This record gives sequence, structure tokens and C-alpha cells, in this order.
Amino acid sequence: IRGTVAIVGRPNVGKSTIFNRLIGQRKSIVDDTPGVTRDRIYGEVEWLTQTFRLIDTGGIQIEDQAFAQEINMQVDIAIEEADVIIFLTSAKEGVMTDDTVIARKLQKCKKPVILACNKVDNPEMQMNVYEFYALGLGDPVVLSGAHGIGLGDLLDIVLEKL
Ligand code: GDP
Ligand code: MG
Repeated sequence: IRGTVAIVGRPNVGKSTIFNRLIGQRKSIVDDTPGVTRDRIYGEVEWLTQTFRLIDTGGIQIEDQAFAQEINMQVDIAIEEADVIIFLTSAKEGVMTDDTVIARKLQKCKKPVILACNKVDNPEMQMNVYEFYALGLGDPVVLSGAHGIGLGDLLDIVLEKL
């Protein structure tokens, strides 16, 4: 195993969709267990003879926390546990306040961060990607989890940084 990669991002950007595509099986569905649920968020990805561990931090449920605080804690866990962090956003909704908050946090951490922009399902959506440069995390990797677009590029970049 080469290392650990975590996917972070606000709810509904497609973290579990991308996670399931990358590990090739549906593993990240999490049921409503009280407390902090951390099972079924781990998977293994094989790419070009390399294997790494993948975490869907969106599946980490933290009891009695407000929504924003839960995302905050998920990002903390990713920063602590991962060697490389994939920060997933969505071109469909554009840059949201929570994206900006997460970006600030990730900028301060010492781990490599890969900004990815999901839901770019067609060429017209490409226009929506440019505003993500404002997050200050470099070139967004363009993805469509729904159509399986960009996953090879993402994996190449992950292995470069791992
Ligand atoms: P999560 O909350 O970040 O884990 O997001 P999910 O993976 O559960 O996806 C949230 C919603 O976005 C679901 O309805 C998905 O079907 C949808 N979704 C995921 N990826 C894409 C995509 O590439 N394009 C579009 N249009 N929808 C997507
Ligand atoms: Mg999810």
C-alpha cells in the first residue's frame, strides 16, 4: 500500500459517487449508527500497479454536531489521516461558502491537496469551472462522477503526489 488518500467536500458534491467509482464497488453507504460511524468509508484503489487506501470522509458521522461543524471535523480527520487530500467541489452549484471555508483550512495544512470539480457532465459545464481558481488551490481537475469522466487524470495526479 502506497499511502492514504481522503476525499473531503461539502455534502452532495459527489464524494461517495467518486469513491464508489474509484474502488469499483459500493462500499461507502453509511447507515445511521449513533456516535461516530467510520466503517464502510474505507476502500482500496489499484491504479497502474499501485495500490492506495481511500477514505470517503463524508461518510464519517459525528453525533450531536451542527452541519458545518461536522464538515469541519471531517476535514480535520482527513488532514490528520491522509497523505494526499482530494478536495471535491461541484461545477453544478459553483463555489459555495462551505467550499471557501474548507479551502482556507486546507491551505493551512501541510499535506498535498488536489482540487477537483465534479458534475462537469458536458462541455457547457466547463464554463463553471473557472470560478474555482479563486479558491487558491491551483488548477481544478475536471470530473463527472456520473459519466466516469476525468477519473484516470485524477488517479495519475494522486500517484504523483503520494
Ligand atoms: P456526497 O454527499 O458528496 O457523497 O455526494 P453523492 O455522491 O451522494 O452525490 C450527491 C448527488 O449528486 C447524487 O444525486 C448523485 O447522483 C449526484 N452526482 C454525483 N456525481 C455527479 C456528476 O458527475 N454529475 C451529476 N449531474 N450529478 C452527480
Ligand atoms: Mg456521501
